Amino acid sequence: MPRRDPIQDIVDRTGESAGSDAARVVAGLAKVALVFRHAQWAASGERGLTPTQSQILAIIAGSRELVGVKAVARHMAITVGTASEAVGALVDKGLVTKRADQSDGRAVVLTLTARGTREAARAAAWPSAMVEAAEAMPEGERALLLRGLVGMVRTMQACGMVPTARMCVECRYFRPNEHPGKAKPHHCRFIRAPIGDADLRLDCADMERAEEPERLWEVFVRGAPLERETPGQGGAGRAGPGRVIPRPEDESV
Ligand code: SF4
Repeated sequence: MPRRDPIQDIVDRTGESAGSDAARVVAGLAKVALVFRHAQWAASGERGLTPTQSQILAIIAGSRELVGVKAVARHMAITVGTASEAVGALVDKGLVTKRADQSDGRAVVLTLTARGTREAARAAAWPSAMVEAAEAMPEGERALLLRGLVGMVRTMQACGMVPTARMCVECRYFRPNEHPGKAKPHHCRFIRAPIGDADLRLDCADMERAEEPERLWEVFVRGAPLERETPGQGGAGRAGPGRVIPRPEDESV
């Protein structure tokens, strides 16, 4: 008997008749995931790759550090065995090479060949139909959706359901609500520019984890600027709640 698509199962179980608004959100996300998966299979298949292999190419290309099989498995939330098998196929296809890690002779790091680099650039592109659907949304709705998705990813990350994402809301360069009332109310100290909800990143190669990501999130959600720690205020060295603190351009959390 052919195996049922698990995503389709979710769609069927959480259809329009589902009671709660949370279930309807999940039903909507499941429909989007279904389209995404089909587009991924079609695009990867045309190039003779599986979606897992395509994703591995994109991970190797997008990582600032050298990655090995274990890091790939962690990033994709798959087993080391599955990652190892997919990497082996990519090596056989001449897209990836393995070499010894110079800092640890027993470890192996993965690098892209010239052809692998070209494939990785294609693999990193999102399905055009989905990009067009997102572009068709009014800008304000797109920003709200992204903000909501960031919250969902963060919750799932805390439950260990998804690998740690490189998100603005946990980044030491992120200053939430630093420009109140402006179209782009937040600030990224890495690029030294204001950013809005629609600019929030879920996988930024320049992200560095903040020391207090929980506090950063609370400030982001509360809608007030981040309080900068200043000696002698508030006992613990914090400025008063909600106070807008002057922002030196080169500081981070
Ligand atoms: S460095 Fe990247 S993750 Fe960090 S705030 Fe800037 S854009 Fe966001």
